[in-house]
Amino acid sequence: MNKRRRIYEGKAKVLYEGPEPGTLIQHFKDDATAFNAKKHALIEGKGVLNNRISEYIFTKLGEISVPTHFIKRLNMREQLIREVEIVPLEVVVRNVAAGSLSTRLGLEEGSQLPRSIIEFYYKKDELNDPMVSEEHITAFGWATPQEIDEIMQLALRINDFLVGLFLGIGIRLIDFKVEFGRLYDNDQVRLVLADEISPDCCRLWDIQSGDKLDKDRFRRDLGGVLEAYQEVARRLGVLTETPRPRGAGPVLVASNTPINGPVTPVNGKPN
Ligand code: UDP
Repeated sequence: MNKRRRIYEGKAKVLYEGPEPGTLIQHFKDDATAFNAKKHALIEGKGVLNNRISEYIFTKLGEISVPTHFIKRLNMREQLIREVEIVPLEVVVRNVAAGSLSTRLGLEEGSQLPRSIIEFYYKKDELNDPMVSEEHITAFGWATPQEIDEIMQLALRINDFLVGLFLGIGIRLIDFKVEFGRLYDNDQVRLVLADEISPDCCRLWDIQSGDKLDKDRFRRDLGGVLEAYQEVARRLGVLTETPRPRGAGPVLVASNTPINGPVTPVNGKPN
């Protein structure tokens, strides 16, 4: 059996060499980490759900002309992406106070912010991803002033789109983290959305109950992590409960089917 070349392994994903130059395969693992990997667990099926959710969101963003690294989903856990040079910044967009912002500024979790706020964190595990300003970013050459402008514009467009998308399925988008990459195309360089968008990197609260449907369930030991991710996938319509006839192509996993188990076609019967 041919062994694929592993390019990079992160906390929740692995990148393999792609089938063509300039492409990579992004593999979603079941690992969940928090507090700079001090807390770690395996949540069976999380990778499958994040692959689907991120595929859906990146496809939708592509449809509104947000450039992304996404090409296509390959299987349950993998997607084909364009190889980019990652800008070493975590770009956080916040609509509502939560998490580190609440702690830092003493804001009650859940209070609406006067406007959406963008923050930058330097991607450096050894330093616990410190928050940085545009001054640091340009002085140390992590991105140019033009790139920062473009990143901020894209981040706000992504936020506007996601707020509406989630609102439509009864979810409040509190905040999220995105990453961008430089795509080299002959003598052109363009910034594209990279990495993933999933409940691993968003705060998603149910509008009715306020229930957390994201990684805070893991960070804060609330239980029901997989169920929360499944609920997001179900509401987005990527976890179908509608049976498909045999032979109609790949069958999505029903919510009460073990998510990482063998994929069995649901045979015409509602389950
Ligand atoms: N986030 C992330 N990766 C990180 C840090 C934060 O995806 O390494 C996301 C997190 O899920 C939340 C948003 O960015 O949706 C803001 O996180 P915050 O700064 O409040 O940090 P936290 O409280 O999660 O440590």
